[in-house]
Amino acid sequence: MAIIWMNETVGYDPGPVNLGVVRLDRDRVLIVDAGLDKGRAGKLVRLLTAEGLRPYGVLLTHHHADHTGGTKRLLSAGAEFVAASPIEASLIRQPILQPYCLSGGAAPLPELTIKFLLPPAAPVDVLLEAGPWQVPGASSAEELQIVDLPGHTPGQIGLRVGDILFCGDAMFPAETWRKYGLTYFADMGQALATLDSLDGLSAALAATITGHGEPARIPTQLIELNRTSIEALVAAVETELATAYSTTGDMSLEEAVQGVCRRLEVEPIDISEHYLHRATVQAVLTHLCRMNRARAHLRGARLGWCPVR
Ligand SMILES: [Zn+2]
Repeated sequence: MAIIWMNETVGYDPGPVNLGVVRLDRDRVLIVDAGLDKGRAGKLVRLLTAEGLRPYGVLLTHHHADHTGGTKRLLSAGAEFVAASPIEASLIRQPILQPYCLSGGAAPLPELTIKFLLPPAAPVDVLLEAGPWQVPGASSAEELQIVDLPGHTPGQIGLRVGDILFCGDAMFPAETWRKYGLTYFADMGQALATLDSLDGLSAALAATITGHGEPARIPTQLIELNRTSIEALVAAVETELATAYSTTGDMSLEEAVQGVCRRLEVEPIDISEHYLHRATVQAVLTHLCRMNRARAHLRGARLGWCPVR
């Protein structure tokens, strides 16, 4: 495999997570996301070397291990800085917070400290805000723009280079939705608003490069697929709540997770995946509460969820 170039400046190394490459000058490139581990990042370094290129800096779209685990390998190959949004930077610098979050604030089970959920700590030197970005010590031929893409994680960002947008996990390909059904998003309202803003940008884009799957030459189709899939997830939770309301009156979070998995014909392969499903269903419940379509109430020590009638 080699780096796939979309134009003279922008390319990517396809893999389980696509790693972006932005040419800054004759031999220096900015890397977008670092991959799961040093093996994945090392493969990119070899591809770059074969083309006479070297990593100058790393932009991390969000804190997840499959996007950040290879950061140190890129630093050891000469990258001089790591850039991320302020929220994501906190979780990248202190990755143990990631399994703590997934565990609802409690010390995590060993199943939540596997390499997919707990990357090695990485330094973040540059904090990024939305807007034009001048890479320190370099000047790209194309204007670089940081784009806020919250929802999958609270501080996810994308990088726009001319008419190409690296958009991390703001959208997933059809295979991911088919395979996982309960695809992880931390905030459904933000995720949908991010899809709206991508819709607004799409006329000016030749392609989006997502973290997973192939680049989308017609981003509007991928945006629509993700909107429909998130809405289907919200509808599945709402249907479960309505069913519970007419039988037992309410349901616990665990019951909601079980019901939604049954409805979507998804079975978690292990405890780690259960926790991801749990967080996603909780994100939908929070979303429904914010829209006044669901509410939480306490019955003694039991927290129950039901629709607003
Ligand atoms: Zn992710």
